[in-house]
Amino acid sequence: MTNYAICVLPGDGIGPEVINCARRVLDTLTARGGPGFTYDVHKAGYDLFLETGHSMPDNVLVAAKAADAVLLGAMDVAQIPPQGGDPLGGLRIGLEVSASVRPSRTIPGIPSPAADIDCVVVREVTEGLYSRDEYMGDDDSAYAVRVITRDASTKTARMAFAQAIARQQASGKPARVTAVHKVGVLKLSDGLFLEACAAVAEEFPDIEYETRNIDACAMEMVREPGEFDVILATNAFGDILSDVAAGLAAGLGLAASACIGDRWAYFEPVHGTAPDIAGKGIANPCATILSVAMMLRYLGEDLGADAVEHAVNAVLADGAVRTGDLGGSATSAEMTDAILGQLNAQQ
Ligand code: ATP
Repeated sequence: MTNYAICVLPGDGIGPEVINCARRVLDTLTARGGPGFTYDVHKAGYDLFLETGHSMPDNVLVAAKAADAVLLGAMDVAQIPPQGGDPLGGLRIGLEVSASVRPSRTIPGIPSPAADIDCVVVREVTEGLYSRDEYMGDDDSAYAVRVITRDASTKTARMAFAQAIARQQASGKPARVTAVHKVGVLKLSDGLFLEACAAVAEEFPDIEYETRNIDACAMEMVREPGEFDVILATNAFGDILSDVAAGLAAGLGLAASACIGDRWAYFEPVHGTAPDIAGKGIANPCATILSVAMMLRYLGEDLGADAVEHAVNAVLADGAVRTGDLGGSATSAEMTDAILGQLNAQQ
C-alpha cells in the first residue's frame, strides 16, 4: 500500500474543524483499501502568533518541504501584524508555488445564482498588488507596489493552459483561456503580464486564448457565467474573481483550491477562518474535502479523488444532510458522516 506523508496546518478559526473532517475522509479511503496517510501536524497562523510571537516557525516550512503534500485549513492572516510574519506568503514562496487553481461549478441540487457555471480561476499568488511592498509617503500618502514578473506570470499561465488541456481532455469540448488585465491603465505591469501569457499561449495552439479587461470580465461573469472556462489572472484580480465565481456557483462552503509548483504543492479551501461560526461545529467541510480530492489527484490517486468527489456530490444532490450555508441544519460532523456513508457505499 502506498503511504503518503501529509503536512497538516490546521490554522485558525474553522480551519482545525474542517481539517478534522477532511482527515476522516482520508482515513476512510485507507480503510477501504486505498493509500495510507501519515500526518505531520503543525501549528501556524494567528493563534500561534498570539502564543509565541511568530505565525510560522522555520521548522514548519522544513516539514512542508519534506512531505508529499501540504493540507491547510485557514489562517487569520489579516490579524497578524508585520512583526508576526506572513505565514501564507512564506509558505507560497518557500514551496515555490506561483499559481492557485480554484474551480467553481454549479452543483445539481444546490441553489446558486448561476445555472451553468463551470470554470476555473488560475490566480498568481506571490506578487502583484499583494506583494506586501507598501510604504508611507511624506505628503500624507501611502503607496503599494504592484510587482509583476515574467517568471511568475509565465508559471501561472502555464498552469492555466495545463488546466485547459486537462479540461479539454475530460470534456471532449474545446477549452479556452481568458487572461484578465487592465492594461489600458497598468500599461507596464499588465503589459508584461499579457506578454508572458501570449508567449505561453503560442505553445498551446489547440487552446483558444483571449484577453479581457477585469471590469468587463467581472460583469460578463455575472451576466454570462457559462461562457467562461479557464480564467488566468494576477493576484488581486484573481482573488476577487475566484470569490465571484464561488458566489455564482455554490458559495465558499464548496470552493476548493490547489497551489501546485514544480516540486511542492499545498491544498486549502478558498474560504477564510470564518470567525462568525468558528467553534460552533457548523462549518461546511466540503471545500476542504474537495481540496483533499485535488490533493489526491496531484498525488496520482485518481481513483480516490473520483471516489471523494462522487461522495460529496451524492450527499449534495440528495439534500437530506446539508450545513447551514447550503440551507440545512447539519453540523460539520453530520455532513462528514454522510460523505463517509456515501464513500463506504461505493463499490
Ligand atoms: P478572509 O479574509 O480570510 O477571506 P473572511 O472573514 O473575509 O476571511 P471567510 O472567513 O471566508 O471570509 O468568511 C466569509 C463568510 O462565509 C462568513 O460569513 C463565513 O461564516 C462564511 N463561510 C466561510 N467558510 C464557510 C464554511 N466552510 N462553511 C460555512 N460558512 C462559511
